Amino acid sequence: MRDKSYDLIVIGGGPGGYVAAIRAGQLGLDTLVVERESMGGVCLNWGCIPSKALISATGLVDRISHAQAMGIEVQGLRIDVPKLQGWKDGIVKKLTSGVANLVKSSGGAIVEGSARLTGAHTVLVTSADGKSESYVARKGIIIATGATPLQIPGFDIDSEVVITAREAVSLQRAPETLVLIGGGVIGMELGMVYQKLGTKVVVVEMLPRLLSGVDPDLVKVVERKFKKAGGEILLEARAKSCQVQGGRAVVTVEQGGQERSIDCDKVLVAVGFRPNSAELGLADTGVATDARGHIVVDDMLKTNVPGVYAIGDVTGMPYLAHRAMKQGEVAAEVVAGHKSACDFRAMPSAIFTDPEIATVGLSESQAKEEGIAIKIGKFPFAASGRAMAMAETDGFVKTIVDAENDQVLGVGVVGPEASELIAESTLAIEMCAYAQDVSLTIHSHPTLSEAMDESFRHALKEAIHIINK
Ligand code: NAD
Repeated sequence: MRDKSYDLIVIGGGPGGYVAAIRAGQLGLDTLVVERESMGGVCLNWGCIPSKALISATGLVDRISHAQAMGIEVQGLRIDVPKLQGWKDGIVKKLTSGVANLVKSSGGAIVEGSARLTGAHTVLVTSADGKSESYVARKGIIIATGATPLQIPGFDIDSEVVITAREAVSLQRAPETLVLIGGGVIGMELGMVYQKLGTKVVVVEMLPRLLSGVDPDLVKVVERKFKKAGGEILLEARAKSCQVQGGRAVVTVEQGGQERSIDCDKVLVAVGFRPNSAELGLADTGVATDARGHIVVDDMLKTNVPGVYAIGDVTGMPYLAHRAMKQGEVAAEVVAGHKSACDFRAMPSAIFTDPEIATVGLSESQAKEEGIAIKIGKFPFAASGRAMAMAETDGFVKTIVDAENDQVLGVGVVGPEASELIAESTLAIEMCAYAQDVSLTIHSHPTLSEAMDESFRHALKEAIHIINK
């Protein structure tokens, strides 16, 4: 049988892969996307989008139940979890079918199956019924296969009692007690969802702090709220084993030389992800990977094998959908013969805890480690009229500027709408702006964005609504 040939074959239809396919279509490339599950990848099916739907719904419940000071008292507030899940599933369906339509509308084709490289220009696709078909990529192959939750010894994922984020976004009932193994991004985001549904949440984190990599002063605001809502945090704690019986689990944790057993009805293992690179035939094709299995790429997303490109989580940290999307766009442009490359000087990151944390550029800790002389500005939301009017005054904006010339180096926000507020400072860093560029910009009143303005002013000792110490 004759091989089917395309200009470009994209393996994986997640945020990296589908963006690459759409951009390739815009550039006139005849493109095939191979996807073994559902279009949209982890992000749309059981990651970013479903978790944000649950976060916004449970955030609303939380705000209503804490609105007495506004004169709002609700009795008998009830959450229908299966209905909430149905609403969330509707959003997922709309978006996954939406991206499939966008790929097709831009001229791309989609085939269901698992792909494996059989050469630098050939791919074998095996569908669920075991049938295989070979495809030829005339101009390039883009690998966008993403990553999978890591497992730890002693914690067998049974998808019922011991679960990963995949199952955690689809529970039909809020657990009474949830033990979270890993106090990272997924653990804290989903832990706070279930906390708002009435679950007692216990975090077991092996490091001395939660959300490592984020400045401790930002994390403290989230930690305080988590504890205030009844959450328990075990730091420098090792999850040793887990006994599952009768739909419950007993987790054994070692902390400070002492062992403790925690009885619970769900255990969420959220200890990081590993790249999906093992079953792609990379070794046979000579595509280089690092010690953890990430595919090594340059800033044009080229691997060491000409014609083979890789994007997204399979290429390494940080595992962020918007990084994958940008890489997808650039890879498609490179395959189409354009001069394009990735520059991640300004890569924002948002954590959808309560309150949200968002960062971009250099953190205070990184600046200190690197010995860079900095000036710091801070503006608390407690001093923002808009935050007060929203009854969301926890948190602050922290700006980090170069002490010598006031250039914007980094920003961290913990507070309401942090994930939206970070966009302004991402642009500031991208454009190599100075603190004065932001403070000379007129910000609407009354908005949360004034806190960004004020924080930069504070770094310059020119804040208006707080004392410049
Ligand atoms: P993570 O790396 O954010 O956190 C994992 C945590 O588990 C770490 O703090 C680690 O110290 C801890 N840990 C590891 N082994 C442990 C053990 N045996 N016992 C106790 N603790 C242990 O990973 P994640 O939360 O699973 O998220 C996976 C990836 O997805 C991350 O790279 C994350 O950035 C990304 N993600 C991002 C977002 C977002 O940007 N909003 C949301 C979800 C996931």
